[in-house]
Amino acid sequence: MTVAGNWKMYDGPDSHALRAALGDLPHVVAPPYTRLRECVDAGLTTYAQNVHWADEGAFTGEIAPPMLLALGVEGAIVGHSERRQYFGETDEGVARRTAAALAAGLNVIACVGETEEQREAGETEDVLRRQVAVLERHERLVVAYEPVWAIGTGKTATPEIAQEAHAFVKSLLDVPVLYGGSVKPDNAAELLAQPDVDGALVGGASLDIDGFVTICRIGSSR
Ligand code: PEP
Repeated sequence: MTVAGNWKMYDGPDSHALRAALGDLPHVVAPPYTRLRECVDAGLTTYAQNVHWADEGAFTGEIAPPMLLALGVEGAIVGHSERRQYFGETDEGVARRTAAALAAGLNVIACVGETEEQREAGETEDVLRRQVAVLERHERLVVAYEPVWAIGTGKTATPEIAQEAHAFVKSLLDVPVLYGGSVKPDNAAELLAQPDVDGALVGGASLDIDGFVTICRIGSSR
């Protein structure tokens, strides 16, 4: 079961202390680009927070799959709701990034999820259908269901809401589905106990070594 920590644009914890605290626990960390090399060198399973579709080119501010692979980075998060909300990323772009990263040999966590307004308007399944439709099954692809209203808000989907959405996503695409949205050490067990919750994408709580290790331990015991 994958438990991935998204450090977002925070510097994050000390990589060597985190590596030591994790021991043999399976984990993924997605630090800011400036700390990728250090996290790889510390022996952490390291993903980038985004990746472009081209191998190189005039794409200021972007990073190419071969550049990540050359650093020893093993995968990338794609389509995070903060990228969609604040930086205009589209389903089409998410599809291109995902396909190129997979073709290059990276693992991909592709994020999907509805906003609060979309959920209240009864549009959750339509949104998920649209976001998942651009992805193709691949052995190195996992989807993260991250309801936007639960990200960084302290509001967590109930285990029932998560389970229902995960089962729906899996009916569309047969890949593991991680849950993301205010996962903390004290709610991880009930979320990860749901049959179709295959792991977690953890934001804020992954910045704290003890909290992240606790969630990884819960994940590994499933
Ligand atoms: C995330 O960044 O993907 C996330 C789920 O954040 P948080 O855990 O802080 O809600």
